[in-house]
Amino acid sequence: MTDLCLLDHTSLTELYSKTLRKYDDIKDKKLSLDMSRGKPCPEQLDLSLGLLDIVNSNSPLLVSESLDIRNYGMVDGLADAKELFGQLLQVSSNEIIIGGNSSLNMMHDTISRALLTGVIDSNTPWGKLSKIKFLCPSPGYDRHFAICETYGIEMITINMLDDGPDMDEIEKLVLQDDSIKGIWCVPKYSNPDGITYSDEVVNRLAKMPTKANDFKIFWDDAYTVHHLTDEPSIVKNILRACEDAGHPNRVFMFASTSKITFPGSGVAVMAASEENISYIKKQLSTQTIGPDKINQLRHVLFLTNLENINLHMKNHAAIIKPKFDMVLNILQAKLSKYSIASWSKPKGGYFISLNTLDGCASEVVKLASDAGVSLTPAGATYPYGKDPRDRNIRIAPTFPSLSELEAAMEVVVLCILLASIKKLLQ
Ligand code: PLP
Repeated sequence: MTDLCLLDHTSLTELYSKTLRKYDDIKDKKLSLDMSRGKPCPEQLDLSLGLLDIVNSNSPLLVSESLDIRNYGMVDGLADAKELFGQLLQVSSNEIIIGGNSSLNMMHDTISRALLTGVIDSNTPWGKLSKIKFLCPSPGYDRHFAICETYGIEMITINMLDDGPDMDEIEKLVLQDDSIKGIWCVPKYSNPDGITYSDEVVNRLAKMPTKANDFKIFWDDAYTVHHLTDEPSIVKNILRACEDAGHPNRVFMFASTSKITFPGSGVAVMAASEENISYIKKQLSTQTIGPDKINQLRHVLFLTNLENINLHMKNHAAIIKPKFDMVLNILQAKLSKYSIASWSKPKGGYFISLNTLDGCASEVVKLASDAGVSLTPAGATYPYGKDPRDRNIRIAPTFPSLSELEAAMEVVVLCILLASIKKLLQ
């Protein structure tokens, strides 16, 4: 063991010089590697190539005599798509709206509509109130936070614990403050920590009394079938839990096939109580005359049912699990002896979340970038891009090839070592 915090000044300085020489050598290689965003790699995209051939002029384009999927209409989506995505989210077809190609887009539009007109149980549109706030379990998904920042919704950082957000804190806040209108949740294999919410967290979110009578849970189930092991994590059904707790309209669930088929050409979906769905459907009818039902049909014919989706996801896992393993093995081999960082060992999702010593994450990201490796900007996983301890780094291992990943991780561990020694020498 060489716990860096226990080394004296001379030993630290020697290690710094040695590490700096290695770093400078790597810098000379002029690498250009990207680990900044959670994107599927080309081999993963190839798994869904069949999507491109599955709809043709012989496909079932008529839903009934009067319903032709090539035409306008069906604002909430094809019945078969509602059935399929109902299976995915474990809700009924009446509790589903099929959207366009992006669940983030659906979340954004749900917030926009709430700002303009309020949600089903609002007395006043959120945008007409002097202040509104959202709870943001962090580290979390930067694009959720970007929606809040863009529309002036004040964000309150909530600590993530091992089984979900800190419920003691949440229950206290929502009881006192009626300007708190919502919470962002990624309940399974969270971005970036890979945390899955426990039943207790789900129950407490569903049951908790809130001062705002129009408080909403934005339940982004982006990684619901994205397992990396043969022991899938299971999350309690939040829609049913809210119903049982007497708050049937409290939750909006979201998901998409972005990381099942093609990001950008997938199908997005939202689920909620029937009452919420009919309220939103009416609003949607002014926004569009209907979604892309040909893409929906493509997905229905290609994915067919939940069992088949799970088989398809096993093929994804076979491609990306070795990449996660490689990152974890390198971190373990190169860093564990120094006690300067800790990292998640996710059972699913798209990220490894790494914590450096306090005050080192920005320096690590900068050093890596100077050596040709782009990481997600430090702080991005916190509201306003500000990590209060400047320690969290989101590693996205899926896109690079194994050899690129190995080269990139060699840089990352050197940068962590350099930034940590510099910090300890201060
Ligand atoms: N939600 C989470 C938690 C994500 O990590 C991502 C993408 O990284 C998305 C949503 C984006 O989903 P979509 O492509 O459906 O907009």
